[in-house]
Amino acid sequence: MVLNHCTTVGFHSDSQRAAINFGPPAEIKICTILETGVSEEETNKLFDYWNEELNLYSLKVIPLIYRKMARPGFTGGAIFSYLYDLELEPGCDRILYLKGRTIGDIVYEFFTLGIFLGVGLKLEIHGAVDSKTHSRGYIKSKYISTLQILFTSPESTLVHEGYHMLGCGHQLFMEKCYIQIQKIKTLAREKETEEGFFPTITPEGKKFQTRSAVLSEMQ
Ligand SMILES: [Zn+2]
Repeated sequence: MVLNHCTTVGFHSDSQRAAINFGPPAEIKICTILETGVSEEETNKLFDYWNEELNLYSLKVIPLIYRKMARPGFTGGAIFSYLYDLELEPGCDRILYLKGRTIGDIVYEFFTLGIFLGVGLKLEIHGAVDSKTHSRGYIKSKYISTLQILFTSPESTLVHEGYHMLGCGHQLFMEKCYIQIQKIKTLAREKETEEGFFPTITPEGKKFQTRSAVLSEMQ
């Protein structure tokens, strides 16, 4: 199992972005899993923030509440194994898991904060997207603790993971990512692409134009 561990932030360039024609508007349906304690209202607020960013590319994400459930395991890895086994059902272009925050998390955060202050390492991961198909991922949607707020927020994590879901990798400068978004939008309009499916693409250029192609790559 390979994850995109997300700690880096890329730098945007408004002028480079403005020079690219992103084509007509398109929508991406995000089947969203709400962990116990995460509300629909919070979900909609996160998506509003994400959509403000995507507006720059004439893209819109639509949250479809897919499941409400207790966390399938304590670690990010356990959540991921669960996500790996899910099919992209008709109506889903991507799967997003919104992780909540439990008492156990708060204890864990307390200790990792200690490690962070002690050796200058931050062990916590705020989100991840699968690197094989870029079709599914999770974010911690509710952290508000002490130092973390200085670096990231659930909103900025979602925007970051959102770029992975559009096929972007990690880069210091985002120009490559703009071109990737232009590519994926063009791919969405090709006749080989499954009707009603917003395709996925990897940073290496591997394309998935049908839900079943995504599925067979995951198996
Ligand atoms: Zn990342």
